[in-house]
Amino acid sequence: MNLIRRKSEKYLFYEALERRLVNVSTIKNTLQETLRKEGGGYAGELRVDREIEESDFFTSYILMKGLIVGNSTSYAQIDTFIIHEKFLLIIEVKNLPGIIKLDNQLHQITRQRDNGPVEGMRNPEDQLLRSERFVRKFLSFHNIPMPVHGLIVFSNPSSVLEKPFSKKSAIHVSGLHQTLESLHLMYADHLYPKFEPRRIQLLFTQHEFELNPYKPSHILSKINTEILQGVLCPQCINKVLIYRNKFWRCNQCNYKNAEEHRQALKEYRSLFSHKVTTKEWMKFSGIKSVSTASRMLQKSNLFVDGTFKNRTYVIPRDI
Ligand SMILES: [Zn+2]
Repeated sequence: MNLIRRKSEKYLFYEALERRLVNVSTIKNTLQETLRKEGGGYAGELRVDREIEESDFFTSYILMKGLIVGNSTSYAQIDTFIIHEKFLLIIEVKNLPGIIKLDNQLHQITRQRDNGPVEGMRNPEDQLLRSERFVRKFLSFHNIPMPVHGLIVFSNPSSVLEKPFSKKSAIHVSGLHQTLESLHLMYADHLYPKFEPRRIQLLFTQHEFELNPYKPSHILSKINTEILQGVLCPQCINKVLIYRNKFWRCNQCNYKNAEEHRQALKEYRSLFSHKVTTKEWMKFSGIKSVSTASRMLQKSNLFVDGTFKNRTYVIPRDI
């Protein structure tokens, strides 16, 4: 489902790492910098969601978040995808505080913050045009002649765009409502053909696939032995819970929960693998009984892969 805004795989990876690194010093800077960046991006996307959801037009939309269009070798991930009965709108959300300059020759933008260093990054126009190409190709393959629009939205109030982009329009999130208004005005004429938004949504959803979790091997190889194993207490730092009488229990703060292994499975997926066997789960969770461990996995809404003897459980994103 794309109706909820999910965190990126990269963000989930670093969040899980922050929680489980016994000694963060080796990659402390990368960890903090990435969490700040990914956290900012996620907050920006939520801000854009809010702006759309609070607008007068929202009831006429289906809003898809983080939609993937294409196939596993070549695809585009669309931050925000609006389906209206007369048009589609792709929104590329950028959370970039600072002064943003455009370099058309190098196809990149530079950003400078508080007189700090100048950073180069991919031009969001190119990203947006690429997403549009994927969507148009998909629509034409399915014989749907629906108009596609694209918009870059800067979600950070302190972004300053030096001059307008040449190919696509870019606005601040505060101007989003007005932009949507003009788009609706443009399509007000009853002569424009209408499509069934639910059908369009279903078609995109049916052809979507799940991305593999983010696994930066250069980082993992450096810190693999420093990652804390086990089901962790949400109230204590670096405290491993013990499973006794159907509950995970903390002997430090007396926290007790029957389902705490779900969070651990989520983190296992982000840090190690999206597949787990009963044996691997026993090793990670510290559960000694094969039947308890396998019953727990069976009840956790995981997909089962393989026959009984070599059974592997696939941990989904939204466990
Ligand atoms: Zn505790």
